Amino acid sequence: MESRIDRIKKQLHSAGYKLTPQREATVAVLLEHEEDHLSAEDVYLLVKDKAPEIGLATVYRTLELLTELKIVDKINFGDGVSRYDLRQEGAKHFHHHLVCIECGAVDEIQEDLLEDVEGIVEKRWNFIIKDHRLTFHGICHRCHDNQEE
Ligand SMILES: [Zn+2]
Ligand SMILES: [Zn+2]
Ligand SMILES: [Zn+2]
Repeated sequence: MESRIDRIKKQLHSAGYKLTPQREATVAVLLEHEEDHLSAEDVYLLVKDKAPEIGLATVYRTLELLTELKIVDKINFGDGVSRYDLRQEGAKHFHHHLVCIECGAVDEIQEDLLEDVEGIVEKRWNFIIKDHRLTFHGICHRCHDNQEE
């Protein structure tokens, strides 16, 4: 079976780019931390373990390239830090986020759930929706459970 990294490799190839060892290490880190929302700096520190010669600028350029190719999405949770998030394969739209205002945890909702809203927006504003970003701010179930004790 073709692995995810092979499919990303193909995407890069068909866009005219090679999967250099530095790019491969960057993609590997993103795949290993799929649940996380890493900043360029975070990715750099993790990639350095695999490829010590790599520089922050290279990691940064790779992340920008992956963003351009829609392999990752760049997201900002309001703290001024750009974070890089792998897109779900085959997902039409970007997933949603639950950001906890108590502990800062970021959870993901992979289901779109917005079909009705999208229908209303498309009709009423005559607007063709291509994607969306939805972040809920609140108290996560872990903090909620702690408060009850
Ligand atoms: Zn996410
Ligand atoms: Zn949607
Ligand atoms: Zn929390």
